[in-house]
Amino acid sequence: MNSLIHTGLIMGLSNHNLKGRLEMNKYFDTIVSKRDGDVCRACGSDNKIHAFHISSDLPNGGYVVENGILLCGDCRNKAKDGILTSDYLYSLIDSSKDAALAAYKKPKPIV
Ligand SMILES: [Zn+2]
Repeated sequence: MNSLIHTGLIMGLSNHNLKGRLEMNKYFDTIVSKRDGDVCRACGSDNKIHAFHISSDLPNGGYVVENGILLCGDCRNKAKDGILTSDYLYSLIDSSKDAALAAYKKPKPIV
């Protein structure tokens, strides 16, 4: 009986983590879109806009607002090609990689 309860808890926990990741992604998109006014922060276009992770090597995928910027398809390609540098993108949202890393130490709002 105890072991069944234990298994249930572990399964519940891993389901929660998967759901948590999906929720985190949704939360990231929503909050970055809201902050950036639903337009590309670099050029103002509303074509194919998505929340972009400025640094891809942050813990847990970098799902912190301080690492997110709303970019259109063209600007996302420029960012991936390094034409728009991460320093430039951080400057557009008044952030930095250090600020993004520090954001992990702050408690997250519950969605
Ligand atoms: Zn753009």
